[in-house]
Amino acid sequence: MNSWWNLGEWSGYDGTRLAVYRITCPFCMEEGNFSTEFHAEKKQPNGSKVLNFDTLKCGNCSSYVQVFWSAGDRLHSYHVQPWPLKYERAPEQYPEAIGRFWLQAKRNLEDRNWDAAAVMARSALQLALRSHDAKGANLKQEIDYLASKGILPPIMQEWSHNVRELGNDSAHPNLEQPPTVPKDATDIVGFLDFLLDYLYTLPKKITEYRGRKDA
Ligand SMILES: [Zn+2]
Repeated sequence: MNSWWNLGEWSGYDGTRLAVYRITCPFCMEEGNFSTEFHAEKKQPNGSKVLNFDTLKCGNCSSYVQVFWSAGDRLHSYHVQPWPLKYERAPEQYPEAIGRFWLQAKRNLEDRNWDAAAVMARSALQLALRSHDAKGANLKQEIDYLASKGILPPIMQEWSHNVRELGNDSAHPNLEQPPTVPKDATDIVGFLDFLLDYLYTLPKKITEYRGRKDA
């Protein structure tokens, strides 16, 4: 997007009205419970596009958020500040089960549950790799397999060799198992983020971009 006038033109959420139900209060984490305290519009010179400037008040804790949003023909997009510093939901392009594990991995990182974060990240990775028909006895082999098919880029395959937690077997814990260290937990969740971006977010964005109306 190279102009704010393009906001909501080819990527965003369904419909041309602000999806308030999607907005989470950054202070109390309640979703979609807002009243509009202030609304202003700026119309595009010589065009039909409208930029909206809203201030919303949370019905639960009475704090405020500012929403800048605009709609195209069938979609709209928005930016909110301040935004919740906790993870509220997985990106909608992730398959449901993968998104569920991803969200728990992120929350476990925030709460410094390093073992749990790594286990959740491995579960999400396993689902994502297998849903792309990966073959292999462990995550590393599955990553190598998808790289050999050109589904994952070489740089992800190379990186996977440096992510220690990818080699651990969470399905079979044992008494001698050392605790997961913070760096390793952070590394595997970071790897998961990039992998899901590559397998799910990038294709979605390319599809949206190709489907856009010529501006
Ligand atoms: Zn609130």
